[in-house]
Amino acid sequence: MISRRGLLWCGCAAAACATVPLSARAALPPIATVQHEAFMRLAIAEARGNPRYPFGAVIVRPAQGGNGGEVMGKGVNDSGASPILHGEIACMNDYVRRNGNTGWGDTVLYTTGEPCSMCMSALMWAGIGGVVFASSIDGITRAGIDQIRIRAEAVAEATPFWKGLLLGGVLAAETDRMFLERQR
Ligand SMILES: [Zn+2]
Repeated sequence: MISRRGLLWCGCAAAACATVPLSARAALPPIATVQHEAFMRLAIAEARGNPRYPFGAVIVRPAQGGNGGEVMGKGVNDSGASPILHGEIACMNDYVRRNGNTGWGDTVLYTTGEPCSMCMSALMWAGIGGVVFASSIDGITRAGIDQIRIRAEAVAEATPFWKGLLLGGVLAAETDRMFLERQR
């Protein structure tokens, strides 16, 4: 795991990967690893909605007490309908429909795949409190899905006005397998 400047990267592929929660924004309560995994399972459930491109996402507002949270939006890749409807964008659109374009700083987006530069930039512009992903760009590429090779961390580091939580590798062993076994 690499941790620098408030960004965390868990490169461990094992299911028992010891992710470390970090609340880089005062708005976010501490989130335990088990809670990150529970939220990621919701994103994985969303991903099942697209068997070819199982990119699913949820936006959660974690409870201040550190136990549980509220799902504020969800989405799955619908790039057959529009090239910009990656799972994260579909999820952000659902969030705005349900909650308005407000309150982003109190929320965390969980996504089955590392956000591409388009999605990561959109999340930065929104001022989201945190971004947690499962499979890395490398893991997705190994499943035969084209990727623009700009890491989410690179977009975050190039965004001086964003100080949120970035965490990768949560349940990556499961999602790597899901991408490899996707419908072709
Ligand atoms: Zn994307």
